[in-house]
Amino acid sequence: MKPAPFAYERPATLSEAVRILADVPGAKVLAGGQTLGPMLNLRLAQPEMIVDIGRIPELAEVTETAGAISIGATVTHAAIEDGRVSDPAGGFLRRVAKGIAYRAVRTRGTIGGSLAHADPAADWLSALTALGAEVVLSGSHGSRTVVLAEFARGAMQADIAADEIVVAVRVPKFSRASRFAYHKICRKTGEFAEAIGVAVDDPERGVRRLVAGATEGRPIVLNLERDLISLSVAALEEALSASGYVADAYVLKLHAVALHRACQEASAL
Ligand SMILES: Cc1cc2nc3c(=O)[nH]c(=O)nc-3n(C[C@H](O)[C@H](O)[C@H](O)COP(=O)(O)OP(=O)(O)OC[C@H]3O[C@@H](n4cnc5c(N)ncnc54)[C@H](O)[C@@H]3O)c2cc1C
Repeated sequence: MKPAPFAYERPATLSEAVRILADVPGAKVLAGGQTLGPMLNLRLAQPEMIVDIGRIPELAEVTETAGAISIGATVTHAAIEDGRVSDPAGGFLRRVAKGIAYRAVRTRGTIGGSLAHADPAADWLSALTALGAEVVLSGSHGSRTVVLAEFARGAMQADIAADEIVVAVRVPKFSRASRFAYHKICRKTGEFAEAIGVAVDDPERGVRRLVAGATEGRPIVLNLERDLISLSVAALEEALSASGYVADAYVLKLHAVALHRACQEASAL
């Protein structure tokens, strides 16, 4: 199938892009096109206008402060995989990027597009939630920052107004003593996950966070006091249920196993 007709704009600045979004109701942002492209072709999305943000320099910037790295929304998965972006989490971002789809998708797909789409099975949503990242947004009413754990309101529903653009994701820096593990259960390497388990442990910053991803909603964050190595599959099933997650026995176990493997892997580092 071919897309329904649409108008196309490729603004050179962020303010111009925001202005177009505010002026044209139903206009849609295009970043890497890896999700929006198929949606247009299948006519699942029929926007009146496409606003291509691929040539806006400030969205491709990577900046560093004392406590965080800010990664521009149009930075591609491939750029992170190739180490062209400083990794505040000791190589963790590179490992996650490498497991996303296959190289052709990673070459065009962007970190901001992935977060904006808020697919529960997407890798960045879970991985960056576990790191305690924040999303920076810009719209006609100014800029705001949202903690990523609260950014996804549900499956494919992000906290973005129609005239807002994801500008960057801010990832905190971790200490050298930190340990990170990411375990993705999927049928073939590089596919969307059936279950994701992420473990982050930074004793110096007092962060010990587990995240279960590829649930049907936003990633589930578990802040557990116990040592990661001591957490059994049964204990993790219990913690997931206690967090309010409802799933059939098989799915619950799948998520607990993904978390357990992440805990074991992080503990072995
Ligand atoms: C075959 C295939 C396999 C894939 N496998 C995986 C996988 O295993 N794991 C995984 O995580 N992902 C996977 N993906 C998704 C891919 O990694 C992209 O991240 C994803 O498609 C979105 O990024 P994009 O830059 O292509 O966004 P686009 O497709 O351009 O946009 C996606 C959505 O986000 C909106 N949007 C984009 N950028 C912004 C912004 N800056 N501000 C506001 N809104 C914005 C668009 O309007 C649109 O609604 C796969 C994709 C394909 C095609």
